[in-house]
Amino acid sequence: MYKTSRWNSKQGQGQIQIRPALTIIVRAVSPTTTVEDTYHSEDHFLNYLLWTGVKGTKWPNRTYLIATMKSSYGEGIFNKRFVNIPSIKDAEAVMLCDDDFDDAVTAHHDIEITLTLNYSPCSKCADKLRDFYENHRNIRNLIIQFSFLYRIREEKNQFGLRNLREAGVTLQAMNANSWREVGVDLESMASSDVDRITERDEDTEGMLNKVLFTYESEQDQDTSDDYDDLSSRFHSHLIFW
Ligand SMILES: [Zn+2]
Repeated sequence: MYKTSRWNSKQGQGQIQIRPALTIIVRAVSPTTTVEDTYHSEDHFLNYLLWTGVKGTKWPNRTYLIATMKSSYGEGIFNKRFVNIPSIKDAEAVMLCDDDFDDAVTAHHDIEITLTLNYSPCSKCADKLRDFYENHRNIRNLIIQFSFLYRIREEKNQFGLRNLREAGVTLQAMNANSWREVGVDLESMASSDVDRITERDEDTEGMLNKVLFTYESEQDQDTSDDYDDLSSRFHSHLIFW
């Protein structure tokens, strides 16, 4: 199934699907356009989140983070965007030092926090987020979802993600539903772009599962056959996790 969808994605290149009834939230970008070229579109922030790690695009060197909170009733109580301060502070650290974020966390009980990033947390930020989660027992659930895994060949970054999971934090790749929740409707975009974004999301999902569940026991991490096999084998784990 995984290989079939990849084949379809190749076949779909160049086809434009027009859906006039749907609102276009994020401008559809042609396959040869780099993320930098999308700067003139209506929402740069979402474009960077959406395109980081997609094959054929230049990856941004900044981290974009959307933090949202829901009350125990499912009501939205916080929504704020953060970016890193280059060479000074990572986006996660900027958020953790933010007064509005701190006020929202301390003022509510039984909250669910969702962090959406273009890159998964580095090892230092993973430690900070784990400490934050463990020190605030009023957080019912902390979900961290991302477009792409940050420097995941480095052991310390893998270790950071495993520590977060062991602390009870939910880690996940982006998918159509999570994109919709942050304001991106994939259905409103050209099908060739959706294919490329979906392929990146599936790759991130496969690699994340590899990091969390199987990476240490893997002998041949570089072969694409193993990669596809692992991706499909662990697909169901992520959905029900
Ligand atoms: Zn970091």
